[in-house]
Amino acid sequence: MEKKNYRDHISQDFFRSISETADKLGCEAYVIGGFVRDMFLGRPCKDVDIVTAGDGIELAEAVARKLNVHKVSVFKNFGTAMFMFRGWQLEFVGARKESYQQNSRNPEVTPGTITDDQLRRDFTINALALSLNLNHFGDLVDPFDGVGDLSRKIIKTPLDPGITFSDDPLRMLRAIRFSCQLNFEIAEPTFKAIAANSSRIDIISKERISEELNKIILTQKPSKGFILLDKAELLQRFFPQFVALKGAEYIEGKGHKDNFYHTLEVLDRICPNTDNLWLRWSALLHDIAKPVTKRFEQSTGWTFHGHEFKGMKMIPAIFTQLRLPLNEKMKYVQKMVQLHLRPIVLSEDEVTDSAVRRLLFDAGDDIDDLMTLCEADITSKNPEKVKRYMRNFEIVRRKLKEIEEKDKLRNWQPPVTGELIMETFGIGPSKMVGIIKTSIREAILEGTIHNDKEEAFQMMLEEGEKLGLHPVSKSND
Ligand code: ATP
Repeated sequence: MEKKNYRDHISQDFFRSISETADKLGCEAYVIGGFVRDMFLGRPCKDVDIVTAGDGIELAEAVARKLNVHKVSVFKNFGTAMFMFRGWQLEFVGARKESYQQNSRNPEVTPGTITDDQLRRDFTINALALSLNLNHFGDLVDPFDGVGDLSRKIIKTPLDPGITFSDDPLRMLRAIRFSCQLNFEIAEPTFKAIAANSSRIDIISKERISEELNKIILTQKPSKGFILLDKAELLQRFFPQFVALKGAEYIEGKGHKDNFYHTLEVLDRICPNTDNLWLRWSALLHDIAKPVTKRFEQSTGWTFHGHEFKGMKMIPAIFTQLRLPLNEKMKYVQKMVQLHLRPIVLSEDEVTDSAVRRLLFDAGDDIDDLMTLCEADITSKNPEKVKRYMRNFEIVRRKLKEIEEKDKLRNWQPPVTGELIMETFGIGPSKMVGIIKTSIREAILEGTIHNDKEEAFQMMLEEGEKLGLHPVSKSND
């Protein structure tokens, strides 16, 4: 049968250079994996993996010389080499055959043929290769009908899926991630094997797990990935706090919403409005403490009092467990979770200036993100309710703008510093300094005085007097 040819799709100059170099060295070379998959899908891809039935490092170095590239990164232990060329990342590896041990995802590797190399790939759609040697330039090598699976939108392993996943359990997460990224379905035997091997995920480092989790969160519809992770009982193994959100309890005929699906809806709803990974994480974690704060009261039914505060407190442990960064990103997520009810509470009552000022003061520069989160949090099925909330949020947003322009409270700095208080009254650091500062801040937030140096100074004098303090006169010498 005549091979399908795709030479027009690999017209970049560097492919010709690889071709000529491989022929000169007398070795086979192919472009393989993600680049070929994305070429068929029409997705942009700047990572090019080249596999050769020969020495990958030797080929990389020879091609780099031909392209006048001087910096080649060589990883001797892995037999790989890579370099950048005009914004493309070219990675070279020798074709290999792999065999795995029970308790590690690091296989024993021996040189192999292109077919051996395709067999060790995770999915049929990731095992596609195009030949680069001059006589076959652009010929498709597709032993597992990956092209067919691309058109059927199917994720499937080339080998027995049980073996594939047991060999390297990270592939289970990759399957779900690709299914979510590409909106493909996982073939039934493949998914069954994921569910059967879920406990093997324990040998994967938390960093690798979070890397895949983040990729799922960054897709257009992350709920698809989380539902699959849950269905395969993978989620339970590395993120049990999230699984605990599942289910609705009923007492005396009164139930509450299923917070697992509610959270996923919020996450999906926020995606069109932000690509900020950490705002998406905030959506994922905003109700995380609902299971631990849940109470049933005769008068009011189900309550989750303080879940925003408790949730904020749970985040460092979750970030540690998932090896997410314990830095300002985490603090940002904590802030979002802690404040996520504030705009709603605000919009339920009359929207007073002082409440808006307090919100601006607490949220600072993250106020817009907080509003984005709160708007995504409206998942009511009652269109009247949704309309009312959205209208109220509109008012909150308008007021926030008005008050910010007037009072400049974003990233507020006290107009009277502790130093000035100490200097004015001739006192050292003490509780009284704090009392005066708090009174001034409260007065500004309440709107009793303006956010203004002179008014604040006057108030400082009055508050000092109440505490029995007197300004010290400045000496003239
Ligand atoms: P993305 O760049 O979105 O992660 P990709 O498919 O290019 O997608 P890479 O991680 O760069 O992903 O991997 C490149 C290729 O290497 C894949 O297409 C696949 O053929 C192979 N591969 C990667 N990881 C594995 C794995 N764990 N098991 C088997 N093959 C893998």
